[in-house]
Amino acid sequence: MNYYGNPMTKLIEELAALPGIGGKSAQRLAFHIIQMPKEKVEALSAAILEAKENVRYCSVCCNLTEEEVCPVCANPKRNHKTIMVVEDPRDMAAYERTKEFHGVYHVLHGAISPMTGVTPQDIHIRELVSRMDDSVEEVILATNPNVEGEATAMYIARLLKPLGVKVTRIANGVPVGGDLEYVDEITLSRALEGRREL
Ligand code: ZN
Repeated sequence: MNYYGNPMTKLIEELAALPGIGGKSAQRLAFHIIQMPKEKVEALSAAILEAKENVRYCSVCCNLTEEEVCPVCANPKRNHKTIMVVEDPRDMAAYERTKEFHGVYHVLHGAISPMTGVTPQDIHIRELVSRMDDSVEEVILATNPNVEGEATAMYIARLLKPLGVKVTRIANGVPVGGDLEYVDEITLSRALEGRREL
């Protein structure tokens, strides 16, 4: 209902459309924003636009980056023979925090989900397959331990194994149905250590 005038209602609607923000949070944020000094609001909107305009996918691993190739892929000290496949850039960040993984990543930006109509073509599997050459020794499937993540891991394993690459799946140290992003670093390290070949 339009209690606050059109511009305010529009702001609340836009905020409420963001993930994890319900109507009440959207109202609270909108009231906070209109009470902020104008320079702060300008800085916020400029940061949103700048991120949108300058962040793109790494041409190798599909991680979000400002450059053509992200810092992990560009780092010659990383082990480029081992590729860890994750669903989301935040999962990659979680593994980076463990400091236990020295390989490189591939970010799918989603998982296969027949329920919500996400097909293999909708996520970055094709780009992963195109990275497979003789230099790749192992692909670690670190998709989330839920139905979609398991289905995605199985799909990728079926694609890659005929190419002669070793394909492994992280261990079940990660709680079933869990979201990698929120798992603590020790659990993530154990899941990586205990990975098994598919
Ligand atoms: Zn990259």
